[in-house]
Amino acid sequence: MIELVRLAGKIVLVTGAGSGIGRATAILCAREGARVIAADISLEPASGQLAVQADVSDSEQVQAMVQRAIQEYGTIDVLFNNAGIAVRQTVAEQSEQDWDRVIQVNVRSVFLCSKYTIPHMMARGGSIINMASVVGITGVRNRAAYSTSKGAIVALTRNMALDYAQYGIRVNCVCPGFTETPLTRGLLSNPAAVAKLTALHPLGRLGRPEDIAAAVLFLASDEAAWITGVALPVDGGFTAGHATDV
Ligand code: NAP
Repeated sequence: MIELVRLAGKIVLVTGAGSGIGRATAILCAREGARVIAADISLEPASGQLAVQADVSDSEQVQAMVQRAIQEYGTIDVLFNNAGIAVRQTVAEQSEQDWDRVIQVNVRSVFLCSKYTIPHMMARGGSIINMASVVGITGVRNRAAYSTSKGAIVALTRNMALDYAQYGIRVNCVCPGFTETPLTRGLLSNPAAVAKLTALHPLGRLGRPEDIAAAVLFLASDEAAWITGVALPVDGGFTAGHATDV
């Protein structure tokens, strides 16, 4: 049987690769033939990957991370801007510090990682996948800064897609529904919350990191060669509408 290797020879940089969706994506990309640079603020990389410790909201650390990748592999073909944090609060509850931190880690990081990676992609094209969320494309209560950050990523994705199409750089984002990772562990430790959240996903279960990784792999691969500027929900139907009879 011929095995399809979808990222053969590609160099893939994944941020937030130490955990959850980033980790699952790094593992999947490596399995599909990529050489993976796994970056995280506190890293326990999967074996066989180049691990780089970097706070992606910090310009100097981002520049050092990109330099390390270029030193090692000479180029970057795929950038997955995945690292992120979540704070569940309304505008009035939210401290100014928390607001700034969420915007820095979730949005400034995408700007910085893209800013310093794109020059290395311009000669031969590439694929950038940004991590948004269902809360960036539809309303969910109690997430003022977080939903703002994810909405900004959807807008930035479209902007970058248009700016860099001429260089053969595709830019897309994924919008996951609620997915079982350390980020949602607190919320999902409450069975009542799990039941409520599951009911919001018409396919009848929460997401797994592998569900999101599969979509990122597709957008990274040449199978998505004519796709740019999209915000792809990967959400079990969360954003499709109401799953109850009315
Ligand atoms: P996760 O398991 O917490 O993974 C996030 C990773 O990013 C962690 O390893 C974290 O490190 C790292 N990180 C945090 N701040 C960083 C920084 N400043 N620099 C570098 N790395 C940093 O959560 P996840 O659910 O996989 O989340 C990944 C992305 O998916 C996030 O952008 C999140 O907003 C998005 N998302 C998640 C869901 C969901 O339901 N899980 C849904 C939609 C979108 P530490 O653990 O050391 O902080």
